[in-house]
Amino acid sequence: MPVYFISQVERDRIVTKIGKAKDIQKRRRELQTGNPTLLEVVGWITSDDDFALERTLHRHFATRRVSGEWFDIQPGDALPVLMHAGINGFVAKNADAFEIVGYDRDAVPEYLGVWNWGDLELEECCPFCGCMCGMHFQDASWMHHCLNCDALTDFSELSPPEPDDEMR
Ligand SMILES: [Zn+2]
Repeated sequence: MPVYFISQVERDRIVTKIGKAKDIQKRRRELQTGNPTLLEVVGWITSDDDFALERTLHRHFATRRVSGEWFDIQPGDALPVLMHAGINGFVAKNADAFEIVGYDRDAVPEYLGVWNWGDLELEECCPFCGCMCGMHFQDASWMHHCLNCDALTDFSELSPPEPDDEMR
């Protein structure tokens, strides 16, 4: 089962729980019960050996342990770990992940906050499934492909740029 990062977000302090759960959103809701402070899923890593992975991550952040499975780490601290996991690493997608905020030089759309906690490029993170394998450009099809969810798109079905926008 996946090993998750769930952050407790207070105004001036974020602490993050590293644990494992089959259903991460269900675990988040369970943890939220009776807790006045907002909890948010940051990301997770799938693994065949979740016990070993969890132990490794707890050890990796050992000096920042607050208590139990809670650590004094920010979502940005978890990101390199999620990236390192490649196709097994995921970020929790924003509900508005597909709101397009602009286009790069190659007319590839840039999305608003695929991830709540930082900007991620298309090549770093698939906006469809949140997988850290990212999307790869296929020369043959001129489309972007995700190895994890198999999304294949040239983004043309999403609103194309207005001519004026392209000039800017
Ligand atoms: Zn994907």
